[in-house]
Amino acid sequence: MAIRTILTDKDPVLHKVCKPVENFDERLWQLLDDMADTLEKADGVGLAAPQIGILRRMFIMNTGDGLRECINPTILERRGQQECTEGCLSSPGEYGIIHRPAKVKLQAQNRDGKFFIVTLEGLAAQCADHECDHLDGVLFKSKVDRMLGPDELR
Ligand code: ZN
Repeated sequence: MAIRTILTDKDPVLHKVCKPVENFDERLWQLLDDMADTLEKADGVGLAAPQIGILRRMFIMNTGDGLRECINPTILERRGQQECTEGCLSSPGEYGIIHRPAKVKLQAQNRDGKFFIVTLEGLAAQCADHECDHLDGVLFKSKVDRMLGPDELR
């Protein structure tokens, strides 16, 4: 278990498309454990592998209902829309107003390679959509309606 360094959005790694995870082995589990430590330390809700310099399709999230590990995720369905205030651990101190799906149906694999499908709503849907974007090198700042000014932040 170890805390990894979170790259900032100026790093070119965060603008690249990630490759699928192929090996569900101890190296992957170690990485997932490190990601969990890193997310907890950073007090965030989601962390994608490219944010710690690993160009593989995986993210973890914890929106208050426990840790979820999503490997090779695909959003099968997006429904509705919600307006969110959003930030990113790779863009410290920066927040914007963005539209995300209200509900997503997500398919992914767990750390043993087993497929699962889950329906997520609200913050969890926002987070999953944000993290999946990371895997395609897309950052929230490129999708915001507008960024919030310093006087709008508390
Ligand atoms: Zn992010």
